[in-house]
Amino acid sequence: MEKPQFPSESSSVDDVLAEVRARRGDDFDWRGGKTFSLVYHPDDEDLDRLQEAVAREYLHENALNPFAFPGLTAMEMEVIEWGSGLLNGPGHGRLSSGGTESIFLAVQTMRDHARAKRGIAEPVLVTANTAHPAFAKAAKYLDVEHVKVPVGADGRADVSAMAAAMDERTGMVVGSAPCYPYGVIDPIAELAGLAAAAGVLCHVDACLGGLLLPFWERIGEPVPPWDFRVDGVTSISADIHKYGWTFKGASLILYRSKDLLAEQFFLYDDWPGGLYGSATTAGTRPASPIASAWATIRHLGEPGYVALARTLRDTVNVFRDGVEAIDGLVITHRPDMSVFEFGSDPDVDDPVDIGAVGDVMDDRGWHLDRQQGGLHLMLWPFHARVAEEFLADLRHAVANAGESRGVAASYGGIAGAD
Ligand SMILES: *Cc1c(COP(=O)(O)O)cnc(C)c1O
Repeated sequence: MEKPQFPSESSSVDDVLAEVRARRGDDFDWRGGKTFSLVYHPDDEDLDRLQEAVAREYLHENALNPFAFPGLTAMEMEVIEWGSGLLNGPGHGRLSSGGTESIFLAVQTMRDHARAKRGIAEPVLVTANTAHPAFAKAAKYLDVEHVKVPVGADGRADVSAMAAAMDERTGMVVGSAPCYPYGVIDPIAELAGLAAAAGVLCHVDACLGGLLLPFWERIGEPVPPWDFRVDGVTSISADIHKYGWTFKGASLILYRSKDLLAEQFFLYDDWPGGLYGSATTAGTRPASPIASAWATIRHLGEPGYVALARTLRDTVNVFRDGVEAIDGLVITHRPDMSVFEFGSDPDVDDPVDIGAVGDVMDDRGWHLDRQQGGLHLMLWPFHARVAEEFLADLRHAVANAGESRGVAASYGGIAGAD
């Protein structure tokens, strides 16, 4: 292919649009429910319409300056109050661009809090090895030491191993609600208890569960305590652009105290351009994700979220029971929510090659993320429509995995890509 050159000529709007659309031919078919990560599809056309209109409304505004577009700032503050209230918190937080940024901010706040308030120059981050890669990435970028502790057989953080990994330099203990690979919730109350006893911070990564677990609880599903009701939890990350059903670019970073939130702020006037301040990592901030987060929550309200949680719960049951009923497959860790891994049953005579199962599913147009221990499913309400087709194809894939392309299991592709 020729090296792309900066366009030497202009092109008409219609031509460019046609080109954009033509380029989508090989995209994963998420609208058809063929993917299980990257996009969260609530199956709600009204919501789609609302989000498209709101995005257009706020396409060009910039949320960097909170005084320039006061209506937008008010929406952001309301989303923070709503989200914090939902998680039984006191309302100290900000909206960030996504889970990774929220986690970066929590780690940076921890580091600077440990330095300023505890006199620890090089505080250490302690997480389970199922914690999202965003923690390792934050530790790398922010030059913070990161200790990873293997989880127990149930896939949850091992509390005594986490305790053993802590010392006088520990700055923060992390638990996930739930973790991405297995969809299980770490023992948050115990982890927060450890942290509180040691006088250190405790972050709960609820990027996945933050906007779903409160409604999971309301529809009667068992949810162990994980939010600000748990003493010792000092911060929570919760993505609105996942199970909060808005489009990309909206996550909550919430703190128990104003002082912790203040560690995150940046104010600067040592340049000729006047006073510059920002509350999150970004400078220029897109406005449409903020407006859409607000509009989505305003539109759905509690009844909308509860209804989506119900549909999702029923969908999870169909997929979970369906996968479990297939000889040769097992769900590796019983999920607490709507995300799980399934793999090859090691206890049968001729264990199925789960990588080959993934290949056959690929050939049938499905996109399952590959993990070290198997294949990963993250479900949305829309998946209710494709459950039977999926399970039929999965039965076919297990029966035919032996004759697939003969490619060795290729794990670790884009696992955890979002
Ligand atoms: C998605 C996810 C993140 C990271 O969020 P991004 O929005 O992809 O940056 C962090 N933790 C968990 C558990 C996640 O599922």
